[in-house]
Amino acid sequence: MEAAENCSVKVAVHIRPFIGDERTQGCKECVTVTTGKPQVQIGTHSFTFDQVYGNGGSPSSSMFEECVAPLVDGLFQGYNATVLAYGQTGSGKTYTMGTSTKDDCQTGLIPQVMNELFKKIETLKRQTEFQLHVSFIEILREEVRDLLNSEPVGKLVTPKGNAVKTAVPGRPPLQIRESSNGIITLAGSTEVAVSTLQEMATCLEHGSISRSTGSTNMNNQSSRSHAIFTITLEQMHKTQSISAVNNTPDEDMSEEYLCAKLHLVDLAGSERAKRTGSDGLRLKGIHINRGLLALGNVINALGNEKKRKEGMHVPYRDSKLTRLLQDSLGGNSKTVMIACISPADVNAEESLNTLKYANRARNIQNKPVVNRDLISTEMQKMCQQLQYLRAELCARVRGPTSDVQVLKERITWLEATNEDLRRELHEYCSRRAVLECCESGAQDGHACFMKSDVHKRAFQSMDSSYCQMDEVVSDEKPGESDVVAKELEHALRQNTMDRELNELNKHLEQKESEMKLVGGADTEALKQHFQKKFMELEEEKRIVQQDRDRFLAAVENHAANSDAQRQKRQEINVQKIKALEAQISDVKKKQENQVELLKQKKRSDAAAKRLQAEIQYIKAQKVQLQRKIKQEAEQFRQWKASREKELLQLRKEGRRNEYERHKLEALNQRQKMVLQRKTEEATIAIKRLKELLEAHKCSVRDNSVNHNGHTPNGQRNEKSLQKWVDHELEVMVKVCEVRFEYEKQIQVQSALAEELTLLKEVDQLSLNGDIPHRVNNGHSRLLSMSPNARMERIASLEYMLSMSTNALKAMVSQLSDAEERECGLVGRRKWNQVHSLSEAKSLLQYLFNATA
Ligand code: ADP
Ligand code: MG
Repeated sequence: MEAAENCSVKVAVHIRPFIGDERTQGCKECVTVTTGKPQVQIGTHSFTFDQVYGNGGSPSSSMFEECVAPLVDGLFQGYNATVLAYGQTGSGKTYTMGTSTKDDCQTGLIPQVMNELFKKIETLKRQTEFQLHVSFIEILREEVRDLLNSEPVGKLVTPKGNAVKTAVPGRPPLQIRESSNGIITLAGSTEVAVSTLQEMATCLEHGSISRSTGSTNMNNQSSRSHAIFTITLEQMHKTQSISAVNNTPDEDMSEEYLCAKLHLVDLAGSERAKRTGSDGLRLKGIHINRGLLALGNVINALGNEKKRKEGMHVPYRDSKLTRLLQDSLGGNSKTVMIACISPADVNAEESLNTLKYANRARNIQNKPVVNRDLISTEMQKMCQQLQYLRAELCARVRGPTSDVQVLKERITWLEATNEDLRRELHEYCSRRAVLECCESGAQDGHACFMKSDVHKRAFQSMDSSYCQMDEVVSDEKPGESDVVAKELEHALRQNTMDRELNELNKHLEQKESEMKLVGGADTEALKQHFQKKFMELEEEKRIVQQDRDRFLAAVENHAANSDAQRQKRQEINVQKIKALEAQISDVKKKQENQVELLKQKKRSDAAAKRLQAEIQYIKAQKVQLQRKIKQEAEQFRQWKASREKELLQLRKEGRRNEYERHKLEALNQRQKMVLQRKTEEATIAIKRLKELLEAHKCSVRDNSVNHNGHTPNGQRNEKSLQKWVDHELEVMVKVCEVRFEYEKQIQVQSALAEELTLLKEVDQLSLNGDIPHRVNNGHSRLLSMSPNARMERIASLEYMLSMSTNALKAMVSQLSDAEERECGLVGRRKWNQVHSLSEAKSLLQYLFNATA
């Protein structure tokens, strides 16, 4: 599985323009947007978000492109996504989401999501099979209702006579189920399969109509329920790899299955129930807001990084809404929250609440992962690897492959030729066997008719044999002529056969040697076959010899026959000779053929041999290549492992830096707070002191008037003395307090200044690049800080110093005032008014009491 990437919840603010009532009531704008910055101010509060739309921020029309289009893209990559619209009733949530049936639907986010979805599907549908489902539910009074259930909705009539659609008992609420792997599902909710934009739009419209809405003071069409429109996108991505060797589609198709959900949530109004003043039906408002309350708690829990790290409990189970959105908040989803606010001053309090709520949501970190089928992930990985290896192999083997093909063809052709030749050889062998039989038969036969001269003549030439034969025929006596003819015939036959035999022997030798080359294994079988043939031919030879004997006997019998008969016989003999001649030429031709074939075979054998060698060479090359591929894969794996290790190290370092930064930030914040508090305390003390001093000046003036005028009676004098003592005491105490603060402030300032100089020193050192090896503790800690953190720290120290300086200035001026007063004789004159001991005693008593 791929690693989950961290991504925080994006928060955008949508400020709607003034609407009907607000205009007529003459409301004033109370929300200002900093130009060029996603910053919103209400009174003294200022918030920064990811985007701000409307009322001087970006135009609302760019909201989809900037906030939601990336989520739709993610959907196609298998990431879940959620869009939440939050805000008080009438702030424009429904308008923003586009679920309203009365506003122009095309401006809302959901219709734009649908357009974009189908546009993308249109471009991708060639490679990918898509399946879309939508569901539309609402949560009203902690009950989940199906808005796409086609059963009719019940009507309820309010006391005012308005017909109000409401969830009725006839339609049972849906139950939330949680599977063992923590996936939340709604049992029995209608999931409509849609294939066109129109179908999806119809679902949205039907759901919106059946959504429960009620009439309140603030917004006639406002909704008091949470509505969740969910689009489920399933994809079956088919990739047919093309074989690189012969450019044909491969058998194996790799498939990737992805499934992702997009929740589009129009939350209920976030205002306090009392403000909406809704009628009796709406008094269960506490329930409506239970979801929002739980949502707020979940956001608080998730937004607090420290507590989250400690693994604190997140109260998802406190409401149906938070259970259903569990994955969207701190889970497997990319989430965008659109905080909708009204710009009018009458709504300032709710708008401020909304901004505070939304601001906290920005701290939530989600961890979206691609929802991929496990097996298909594995398959995809393997297919990728296969393709990669194939491409590699193809790149290296491309040269030899076509040669191999040609060589293969040649081998088959040569094998066929070889087979033909072998058959022919077999034929010749059997003939040779026959001839051998004949020869041996003739040598040890009883009648040898051969005469040396006849023999010689027969061996001379074929042409001469004719005339010689003629001579013989004409010279000899009729009785003898037949015998001679027979002899001649026999001799001739023997002669040619001998020659043939010789030839065959030679050829056989050749062929046998070639045979050994071509197919050594067959020789044994052939031998057996020949032996059998030999026996058969022996038998045949015997029969032929018998025939011949019979024939000779017949010749002797017919020796004394008539001339006419002789003539006839002569003709027959001539015919026989001709036949023999033809046979001889035939054999000759065959001999030539044989020689030619043998040559061919030799050639083909050589070629086969060469090819064999070539094939061997190619095979060796292939083995080498495979080894190389393996080696490279191993090298790549090692490289990847080292890369991953490096990355891990870097991440660790990054985390450490981040932690350091946070620590420092916290320290800065804490110190600032402390300083601020101290400064505030000092300011209060200073103020009081100032007041006292002022009052003192006045009283002195009064007293001096009294003193110079009539003598006051004793009681009045005592009272005024007591008052004076009180005052004096308080001044003293305050002066002490301020001084104490002053001392403390001075200490703080010196500490700050010391750290600042140290930091600046270190900064200078690191700028010059000569970082000392031996440093004291303070230095080493500061040196380990990243330059950015150092800069930040310096800035905050300087800020704190200036703050402390201001405070000191104020204190100094007040203290000096007080000192001035002490030095002045104005105060001491008062003592002169004590005339008697009793007066002094009672005043002393009073002083002790007051001091105590
Ligand atoms: P909510 O769903 O938050 O209760 P509505 O979406 O119903 O609020 O909006 C209340 C009124 O304000 C509607 O009449 C709506 O047309 C109007 N409205 C909301 N936002 C805008 C806007 N951005 N531009 C114009 N009118 C808007
Ligand atoms: Mg609404």
